[in-house]
Amino acid sequence: MKTKLCLLYGGKSAEHQVSLRTAKAVIQALNLEKFEIHPIYISTDGKWLKGPQLHGPVDSVQELQFTDGEAIAPNALMSSISPKEDSGYDVVFPLLHGPNGEDGTVQGMLELLNLPYVGNGVLASAAGMDKVIMKTIFAQSGLPQVKYVWSLRSTWEADPESAYQYVEAELGYPCFVKPANLGSSVGISKCTNRNELEKAYKEAFQYDRKIIIEEGITAREIEIGVLGNDYPECSVAGEILPKTTFYDYKAKYEDGDTALIIPAEISDEVYASMSDIAKKAFKVLDCSGLVRADFFVTADERVLINEVNTMPGFTPVSMFPLLWKHSGVEYSELIERLIQLALERYEDKQ
Ligand code: ADP
Ligand code: MG
Ligand code: MG
Repeated sequence: MKTKLCLLYGGKSAEHQVSLRTAKAVIQALNLEKFEIHPIYISTDGKWLKGPQLHGPVDSVQELQFTDGEAIAPNALMSSISPKEDSGYDVVFPLLHGPNGEDGTVQGMLELLNLPYVGNGVLASAAGMDKVIMKTIFAQSGLPQVKYVWSLRSTWEADPESAYQYVEAELGYPCFVKPANLGSSVGISKCTNRNELEKAYKEAFQYDRKIIIEEGITAREIEIGVLGNDYPECSVAGEILPKTTFYDYKAKYEDGDTALIIPAEISDEVYASMSDIAKKAFKVLDCSGLVRADFFVTADERVLINEVNTMPGFTPVSMFPLLWKHSGVEYSELIERLIQLALERYEDKQ
């Protein structure tokens, strides 16, 4: 019997196009002897559009945008895809990034529907999306990371001068200002003086009511893939060499010339330390399925965790699949392993 796989992609976030490309690639890679593919496209204005069952790869992403499809409002979804027993799906693969996709909201809906789904659950997704919560948990677990402070918009608005002085006293320059709840470097600025700090606050608060401010460090950026449930395994490490001053949105999605070096040239000690921290981070956030753990490695070989991404870029040329490819797990096998992990996790919870 074939596994009935529902692919959920698109979405309201900045990563809509990336998600479409991922869906196309996943469909291409799936073994149709094993899987039935049932697509649901989420348009940029948040409509859920159920497409027909697909029987082969598609030639373009346009074929996946069912603008004339049956519209399912997310809140009416219950009656439409209803619990597992009668939904017709065995497992859902949310190929979504950012808010409303990677932050536990969709995961919560799938829990309510009692459907197995690929990747992280509600808690890990939500904690991984909020950089303040994530770093607080890491700190509690003794994981090494850069110094940081955080602020609410309301606190800053009440007394901006004190907010800036606090950052200058605690961290100094350079520092990085980031919205707490985004990804893809959106709303992030590097500041080297008060003027830039003021601008950065205004910018970051446009995206979120909470921001994090971190000590800026000079370091290599090295990432590692983690795969598993209770017994996570690590991939080889990969290094990012952005051409810009830091790995900003443009470098991630537009330039295409950010170099990825896999495996990263690091000592065995640095790799051992990274994989140890990555597994610990995976466990303390109660992750499942996958994460990409991102590190800063300084010239004197200090290893600091920057973040985990609970639904990392997943096109065949994204870091996470490439890391696994270099570790001996091809894209189609990686997808099957993730689906298997989703089903195992579901069984485990029963
Ligand atoms: P996102 O979740 O949007 O990827 P990150 O925290 O990874 O946000 O920040 C994006 C990029 O900004 C990083 O990949 C790195 O290039 C740079 N950066 C972020 N924080 C720091 C820091 N504390 N010191 C130096 N560079 C940083
Ligand atoms: Mg991130
Ligand atoms: Mg990042």
